[in-house]
Amino acid sequence: MNSVYIALGSNLDNRIEYLTEAVTLLDHHDGINVVRQSSIYETAPVGYIEQNDFLNMVLEARTTLQPLELLDYCQFIEKELGRKRVIKWGPRTIDLDILAYNQENMKDERLTIPHPHLQERAFVLVPLAELDPNLYIPSVKQEAGVLLNKLPKEEVESIQVWIEK
Ligand code: ATP
Ligand code: MG
Ligand code: MG
Repeated sequence: MNSVYIALGSNLDNRIEYLTEAVTLLDHHDGINVVRQSSIYETAPVGYIEQNDFLNMVLEARTTLQPLELLDYCQFIEKELGRKRVIKWGPRTIDLDILAYNQENMKDERLTIPHPHLQERAFVLVPLAELDPNLYIPSVKQEAGVLLNKLPKEEVESIQVWIEK
């Protein structure tokens, strides 16, 4: 059985429903078992700021799927949920990013594991370190909690708990 961490994010009006539905769809797959979920955090958009605030969370799962099979299923869920309300050029209903797969490093055309931007993002590291601050991230050779402590304090403090686990 493989251990994976997946980051979820949504910034549409019914963002909590998108998160909940994505977790349900992940868990309903025969080859995926969601074992733990972080609190849900509200975070201001970074970069393109003319859009709603995000809800972000991270979950831990066990899976029999190989990394690319898991990516396929995550993209299937994105497609399923994305189709509910199509807003052209609008914000994304749901984003599912694979943060870590066991302790593996992989770089494929379609998939980089660990997620290449994980170490820069407070909205990912706060929920990830909530689940396991000692999780070792092989690509940057540091633990999640250590990576979080290296981010600017204001950035980390801007990540507010929205629903506490
Ligand atoms: P970012 O990856 O910077 O968070 P994004 O999540 O908005 O941006 P997407 O449009 O969701 O980007 O995905 C773009 C592509 O990233 C996908 O088609 C997928 O093949 C690729 N990708 C590479 N590594 C990963 C990963 N670890 N998890 C999910 N997608 C990945
Ligand atoms: Mg993303
Ligand atoms: Mg993505």
